[in-house]
Amino acid sequence: MAYASSPASLSLLPSSSSSYSRRHAVPGAAVTLPGRSPVRRLEFIGTVGGFLLNSHVASKIRGVTRMMRPGLRIVVSMAKRSVGDLTVADLKGKKVFVRADFNVPLDEDQNITDDTRIRAAVPTIKHLIVNGAKVILSSHLGRPKGFTPKYSLAPIVPRLTELLGVQVQKADDCIGPEVEKLVAALPDGGVLLLENVRFYKEEEKNDPEFAKKLASLADLYVNDAFGTAHRAHASTEGVTKFLKPSVAGFLLQKELDYLVGAVASPKRPFAAIVGGSKVSSKIGVIESLLEKVDILLLGGGMIFTFYKAQGLSIGSSLVEEDKLDLATSLLEKAKSKGVSLLLPTDVVIADKFAADANSNVVSSSAIPEGWMGLDIGPDSIKTFNDALVTTRTVIWNGPMGVFEFDKFAVGTEAIAKKLAELSAKGVTTIIGGGDSVAAVEKVGVAEKMSHISTGGGASLELLEGKELPGVVALDEAVPVAA
Ligand code: AMP
Repeated sequence: MAYASSPASLSLLPSSSSSYSRRHAVPGAAVTLPGRSPVRRLEFIGTVGGFLLNSHVASKIRGVTRMMRPGLRIVVSMAKRSVGDLTVADLKGKKVFVRADFNVPLDEDQNITDDTRIRAAVPTIKHLIVNGAKVILSSHLGRPKGFTPKYSLAPIVPRLTELLGVQVQKADDCIGPEVEKLVAALPDGGVLLLENVRFYKEEEKNDPEFAKKLASLADLYVNDAFGTAHRAHASTEGVTKFLKPSVAGFLLQKELDYLVGAVASPKRPFAAIVGGSKVSSKIGVIESLLEKVDILLLGGGMIFTFYKAQGLSIGSSLVEEDKLDLATSLLEKAKSKGVSLLLPTDVVIADKFAADANSNVVSSSAIPEGWMGLDIGPDSIKTFNDALVTTRTVIWNGPMGVFEFDKFAVGTEAIAKKLAELSAKGVTTIIGGGDSVAAVEKVGVAEKMSHISTGGGASLELLEGKELPGVVALDEAVPVAA
């Protein structure tokens, strides 16, 4: 690759920090921002470590207050009672309905090609088993239309049995007399997997009668399906009306600890890296993060809308013409909030959208006609890395380029490697779902991150400051002394 011209400086440096008082407030102290109601800063503790270590962190964060655009819901309290709060006295001999997420990829022969979601469900199930509960597992798989053998949960049984060390039984349905018989025969510590709950259209409609039938199988409820927590379905929301207590599983709790807890009360400096194809799909996330971060790094296809808004030529790069004003207003907002927003100063351009395209590296201000930007360039990688080493918390959502093509995966892979390196040095690194997760997995550094979100849509909604129906429906955590 040739370097065609020197990089243009498009970085917006931090302003004289009108938000100084917010950024330097003492954890736990109430601070008032001009024109805003008081905000209690809450210290986030226990950033790295295992599931169990983190499982109570969110429950210590009371009433996380979010500042958002006018018209959006303002207060989110995601502090939920955790399955870890339930002891043998609460669980022994009790039938527990666990909504898990076993929506794993299968090949044509019904072999599981990635068991991440099954492994992620194990801590909650084991906690219930060792405390003598009768575990009734529910999940969806794929998007079936009625009873479809292809979408049966049967392929999950051997792997789950192996991971739990307990033989998992499987029902052929998720409600009805046959299922009731199997539940009645479950010993303490036994595990029964119900059939795909989406075989009933009532599931996604959150039909109260269907929810009641599901709930009638059990005494209490645990939601550990973060990936579907942004949907109000019968097994994620409806059942909570009939089962008490309704609590969060360890996986769900961990997602909240990081995506709500660490984001609300980060160790600073706090940086967000946002990439992906379009600015329109990330507006909510960018706006929400601009309220919280010190540094915002932008990459991916969305940068060209920002460039164009600044009057630069972008060749045939991806652009959203109707979002130029929005891009300008986001840049202005970053400046007024004292957020250091960095746009890539150079890009890798291609003569066509293809893995074997001819490529070149040019300054962001020198993209020739007929060429499109498909990755961030080497100068930008260096600038981004230099910014990242100053941070103590980083959240990443969206690739820096078309990482599906090896030739244009360099920027995304460099960020993944840098975050792995920082993680080892104690920086809290959060990968917020979707393609960024695929990227860190591709580079082989997934295990090194503080947290990898298991839910694409759900994590985006949380980062936008939205409430997730499957979380809202759970019991509030018992208040802790301030
Ligand atoms: P998203 O789902 O919005 O996070 O977008 C992810 C997609 O953005 C990936 O499939 C990438 O290939 C794509 N993407 C990243 N950078 C670019 C770019 N410069 N031009 C076009 N698509 C891109």
